[in-house]
Amino acid sequence: MKVKTRFSPSPTGCLHIGGVRTALYSWLFAQKYRGSFILRIEDTDTKRVNNDYIQDILYGLNYLGLHWDEGPFYQSNRLDIYKNIILYMLKKGIAYKCYCSQERLDRLRKNQILNKEKPRYDRKCREYCIVLKKSNIPFVVRFKNPLEGIVKFNDMIRGSIHISNHELDDFIIQRSNGMPTYNFCVVIDDWKMNITHVIRGEDHVNNTPRQINLLNALNAPVPLYAHVSMILDNSGIKLSKRNQSRSITSYINEGFIPEAILNYILRLGWSYKDQEVFSIHEMKNLFNIENVSKSPSMINDKKLLWLNHYYLNSLPIKTIISYFSIFCKNKKIFLDTDIDIQNLLKEFLCHHNTLQEFISSYVYFYKDINLYNVDNIQMYCSCINLKILKFLYKKFFLLTCWYKSDILCLLKQSIKRFHVCFKYIATLIRIGISGKKNTPNISSIIFYIGKNRFLSRIHNLIKYIQLHMLV
Ligand code: GLU
Repeated sequence: MKVKTRFSPSPTGCLHIGGVRTALYSWLFAQKYRGSFILRIEDTDTKRVNNDYIQDILYGLNYLGLHWDEGPFYQSNRLDIYKNIILYMLKKGIAYKCYCSQERLDRLRKNQILNKEKPRYDRKCREYCIVLKKSNIPFVVRFKNPLEGIVKFNDMIRGSIHISNHELDDFIIQRSNGMPTYNFCVVIDDWKMNITHVIRGEDHVNNTPRQINLLNALNAPVPLYAHVSMILDNSGIKLSKRNQSRSITSYINEGFIPEAILNYILRLGWSYKDQEVFSIHEMKNLFNIENVSKSPSMINDKKLLWLNHYYLNSLPIKTIISYFSIFCKNKKIFLDTDIDIQNLLKEFLCHHNTLQEFISSYVYFYKDINLYNVDNIQMYCSCINLKILKFLYKKFFLLTCWYKSDILCLLKQSIKRFHVCFKYIATLIRIGISGKKNTPNISSIIFYIGKNRFLSRIHNLIKYIQLHMLV
């Protein structure tokens, strides 16, 4: 049988780390067995669903390269399918209309809690609904959960799980507004979409026995289930859409790249010996459900930074450039085409953990300097600096080739000429071309900033000093 997995987010929040992990494990599992991976958007909870979240999910999965083989399927487009099955179930007597009012249900619940009983529906309408069959009273549809026996399944991560049917109630499959519920749609879709392996968060483990009962009642095959344990944040709180855990888009916007994000998320709950770094190819080959941990895993931002640094400096430069281009486009940063991005990245990325960190350190490559905003600029407004800058301007203007070695040579000449140290000249130039006292290697910076930009910024500094020089 062909392996088929799915990622089926409810778009009631952004795509966060836990969601990506479910998607990644499902995707890797399907890849490993040459099966297929489908994307299903579970958008029947119309009050909480938001189109921005759908876009966020699609964008995040695409950016990370978690491409789906089928879909995205939207449950909201499949309402007719659900409706027909509910009608069939009512006809077959495996579901029933429940007319109990909210007040009655609240009272029931309150009394059960008072009597220290597990709150659940008492199945009143399972017996009496016939009487009200033709009335206009609003109703929900409930599944006739078996009254006896045990539901058992062998969770691929957590082992054997069983629960007595006495513990389960007749859960709602259609709300009073006619909309089918999560537990119903998920079952119908897993069945109709031939899902063989359901890999999802541990928070769904309680739903599984109900879903299995429903599948059995419909004579549908039961997939295998794997419930992945929770992810905790730094303070030990479960990550979830509701506690506003960080969306993947925010990581992307900070310049974390797919290889690093996936590697990091893969290891949140899965291990292979003591290996930390996994290429996508290795992930596909080595991933297995047996090594998924039963215990919760903990967010570790430092590790993500470390992995991002590692991948930024070890992936082919072409790959890095393509991520960098997407990153700059998203941030509306436009670098002039005369800047040698490839070598700039090659030379300086090693100092940074994220693309955001990189780009914020080199703002002067794509934005002009406003000398009026430079800290302590006044202290550079001296006669000697003016002379040095004019000398530099002239010498660099006459340079026909823009090589790092020639640049360094000219810097050395100016040191000799003015009897100052290298640092003195370098700082002065740094202020002029970057507005900062510190930058990486000055001849490299001059080289990458290019002749025109260099001369025009030195010229601006000369003008500024002339205007503000203390006499
Ligand atoms: N739609 C559910 C959620 O976002 C997942 C359902 C499932 O995987 O069965 O939590």
